[in-house]
Amino acid sequence: MPTLGLVAHDSRKQALLRWAKDHREQLAAWSLCGTGTTGALIEKELGLPVKKFLSGPLGGDLQIGTEIAEGRMDLLIFFWDPLAAQPHDPDVKALLRVAVLWNVPVAMSEASAGSMTEPWLRIAGKTSW
Ligand code: PGA
Repeated sequence: MPTLGLVAHDSRKQALLRWAKDHREQLAAWSLCGTGTTGALIEKELGLPVKKFLSGPLGGDLQIGTEIAEGRMDLLIFFWDPLAAQPHDPDVKALLRVAVLWNVPVAMSEASAGSMTEPWLRIAGKTSW
């Protein structure tokens, strides 16, 4: 099962949740992990198991980055806030940097998330719907 990371800044959590609910069937085909608050929210609302790392500001973004650097993540959905500075901005930048460094695709909005999860699963021959 391919692994998908889920991260959303506070102002973008509802958008990610809406997107995730609309794509629950797709998400069920992935092994899910996420930063603490985002992961707990997705798990509760979708009823799918999510491996939860620390909350982003407490190091969760860096833990997700480690998953990428060590080859344990296939796709990252990261709804970051384009309108507010984050206290953990260096971690956000580090996460995006390792994703590019290790060529792991990153979806940053509803528009790209939908277009990336489904084809990835089809290409990998792992569709289950
Ligand atoms: P959170 O972290 O899911 O724990 O809120 C997200 C972030 O701010 O990077």
